[in-house]
Amino acid sequence: MPKLNFYAPNFYAGVPLDRADRLRGDAERLAALLEDPRCCVVPLWRSQHLIAAEAEAVVLRRSELDGLLELAGETIFLGLRDEVAYLAIDFSHLEEPQIGPLTAGRGSFQDLRAVGPIMRREDGALLAYARGLAHWHGRHGFCGVCGTATVSEKGGHQRRCANADCNAVHFPRTDPAVIMLVHDGGERCLLGRQPFWQPGMHSTLAGFVEPGESLEEAVAREIWEEVGLKIAVAEVDYHSSQPWPFPSSIMLGFHARADYGPLDLGPDELESARWYSRAELRDSPEDETFKLPRRDSIARRLIEDWLAEG
Ligand SMILES: [Zn+2]
Repeated sequence: MPKLNFYAPNFYAGVPLDRADRLRGDAERLAALLEDPRCCVVPLWRSQHLIAAEAEAVVLRRSELDGLLELAGETIFLGLRDEVAYLAIDFSHLEEPQIGPLTAGRGSFQDLRAVGPIMRREDGALLAYARGLAHWHGRHGFCGVCGTATVSEKGGHQRRCANADCNAVHFPRTDPAVIMLVHDGGERCLLGRQPFWQPGMHSTLAGFVEPGESLEEAVAREIWEEVGLKIAVAEVDYHSSQPWPFPSSIMLGFHARADYGPLDLGPDELESARWYSRAELRDSPEDETFKLPRRDSIARRLIEDWLAEG
């Protein structure tokens, strides 16, 4: 049964921009938009964003960039909003003492991973998009085919190998991962815990999709590897998805039904896992003994939507 509510996108989805793919190859038009004093810039520094008080994303106007543009590194065209261009500019090459002119009176560079859960959704989506692309540029400065340096083109939406004999084009990567709430078709669902998570946090199972595997097969395989339950791919229901730029995943969310039974935890997987009743989760103490996953995660949504069905 599909559970997706299109009016409630997951956190980090729903970026409020027209991505304007049609403009990416039009260097002249792009240059003109970027000279517009209304043009908006999302600054980045080493995967962090400029954040003001109350977890507000700082977006600079073109007119505020005097003296800063000459410091700019990778520049990425994010899209349009009301015909105003949005850019991300990466200042990662600057050493910490040099970022002062950027932050002066505006806020501080912070990790989206830390401030995301308390941000406005719109800000979170914009920063996630910028972070994902900036991370990709930072990891693809050299051609994976021949090792020559690559050059950004199409407004930062592809990179081309500078070796004319190779000329390979590289596109932004997003790595598919499945994440699934396993339930028994009744009042019980299964949560586990990895040893490096925050104290008390319990969550859904998850894992990367492997080459040569469908999404439902990845769900079934991960459940088998992590808790030793066999499930049928026909019992896997798609729920919704979420961009998760930590660093470059798309989380594909499912509910999956398994027969209730004892669990057999795989080696090197979970620290613990067990079945929980709806009543137990509704009474979650949300403290260091037991808490559900963070509010900006699709894991939380998969659990809350399942609780709401009971
Ligand atoms: Zn190459």
